[in-house]
Amino acid sequence: MSKKHNFSAGPCILPQEVFQKSAEAILDFNGMGLSLLEISHRSKEFVAVMDEARAIVKRLMKLGDDYEVLYLGGGASLQFLMVPFNLMKSENGKAAYVDTGAWAAAAIKEAKKMGPVDVLGSSKADNYSFIPKDFKVGSEYDYFHCTSNNTIFGTQMRSFPEVDTLMVCDMSSDIFSRVIDFSKFDLIYAGAQKNMGPAGVTLVVVKKSILGKTGRDIPSILDYALHIDKESMYNTPPVFPVYASLLTLQYLEKNGGIAAAEARNEAKARLLYDEIDRNPLFESFCVKEDRSLMNVSFRLLDETKKEAFDTAWKAAGISGLNGHRSLGGYRASLYNALPIESVQVLVDVMKNLK
Ligand SMILES: *Cc1c(COP(=O)(O)O)cnc(C)c1O
Repeated sequence: MSKKHNFSAGPCILPQEVFQKSAEAILDFNGMGLSLLEISHRSKEFVAVMDEARAIVKRLMKLGDDYEVLYLGGGASLQFLMVPFNLMKSENGKAAYVDTGAWAAAAIKEAKKMGPVDVLGSSKADNYSFIPKDFKVGSEYDYFHCTSNNTIFGTQMRSFPEVDTLMVCDMSSDIFSRVIDFSKFDLIYAGAQKNMGPAGVTLVVVKKSILGKTGRDIPSILDYALHIDKESMYNTPPVFPVYASLLTLQYLEKNGGIAAAEARNEAKARLLYDEIDRNPLFESFCVKEDRSLMNVSFRLLDETKKEAFDTAWKAAGISGLNGHRSLGGYRASLYNALPIESVQVLVDVMKNLK
């Protein structure tokens, strides 16, 4: 079986070298005569993995010692709740959100369970086809929450607003895909399975000084300060996803870091968007200026071509191209590990559709 061209939105393609090394570690980790899956998370071998996994994030993000890196379970969805629990004041607290897609809306829903939330902008009425930008974030809010990339609809924040409060961002689907000034953010989180590893672990990067100010009695498992104190080992961490994420980040660092990944991602996205814009059979779902470099959502203008197109891309060895069930059409996810050759295969199929 030859390797498919995997455009899946998540869990996503990872570098082949990461699959290879992960498989080896499952059979024999570091020549220990033991599988990675059967050693204690407190063994010196795994503690070294966790330490390096935390250190490499700070190196890649160019962040200093005022930031802490955590690897937690529960997915990005748990962060929808942990963020307000840890940052929204128990008395007279209030948070600001921007509603740019289904995941942003899910984050808003959870935050509302903790206290008042103002939604400063929303593109929901336009099927989330653009990023709302026309709002100001004042100091009356405990924090501002945004979603850097909208995985389902295929829009991306090209820039971030200046805010007068803490800045929180869900970067699940474009983390480490482009150069960003990460020091603008007070808290960043990302489910690993979109662009940095397998499912089962969530990266949290948090500025330590913002914690402990809400007056809430935070349950232990939801308390960032406790997880920091225990160096992501308050409870058993998801050892395999942490290890595979570390391998992915080491691969990224070895191959030119974030800047080089961004250049590759821009080239891939340009190749595909140019074809969508040129080809009269296809149309993009989103406004041009907000289109995502990671998730390219598009549709056929003539539905009678659907069968021919679906047959052709499947025959070309492409996998994971169907759009999200809420949007339909197609979605090509161009995460870091997807080679440009796979995008060329898709573009050739689109060009040959008559
Ligand atoms: C997938 C996704 C989530 C949810 O992640 P889980 O790890 O499945 O909870 C949240 N936010 C964004 C932007 C996503 O793409």
